[in-house]
Amino acid sequence: MGDRSTDRGGRRSHAALPSGFETRKDAEKRCCILIKRLERRTDDPRSMELASCLRACTAHSRCMLEACPKCLRRFRGNLYREARRIVPKGAEIVTVSMIPEAARVELDALQTVDIPTRVKRYRKSLSRALPPEAMFVGGIDISMNAWHNRDDHWNLHLYGYVILPKGSGVGKRSSCGASTGCPDRDRGG
Ligand SMILES: [Zn+2]
Repeated sequence: MGDRSTDRGGRRSHAALPSGFETRKDAEKRCCILIKRLERRTDDPRSMELASCLRACTAHSRCMLEACPKCLRRFRGNLYREARRIVPKGAEIVTVSMIPEAARVELDALQTVDIPTRVKRYRKSLSRALPPEAMFVGGIDISMNAWHNRDDHWNLHLYGYVILPKGSGVGKRSSCGASTGCPDRDRGG
């Protein structure tokens, strides 16, 4: 049985989420646990600030923080619904996680990164690497990396899905440990 969600205005969304998808109650419970843990760290102003943001996150005013279980669930649900809209029935999907060339950015140079240019470059590389019938949906995640708590730097990480028509046999062809899957278009909505 699918789970239904509400949009920003509190209206019911018609697109059902897949069976087993985290429920709103689950996310609220996780959020409460996280807030309690953060509020124990009274000596850390950042923990207190985050706890305050999470407490203030409501259906009418979302915090949109990555650390917020409620907002994260919404993001995942929206991603799933959008994928259902564009992914052909029976499509074969490979999850992709790549660190592109020149992904490293020094700590004080993040503001110099030209994201639109990078997106264009990655698009070009992917269109050359993938078969013409493939579709790529994804984005860039920027994270701070370190090695043994040293050498702090930013890293641009490309995450996404390569979507191929039914019968491409991509799962059989894959030899790099990629996982395959497909949103279930026949279930619940
Ligand atoms: Zn939130």
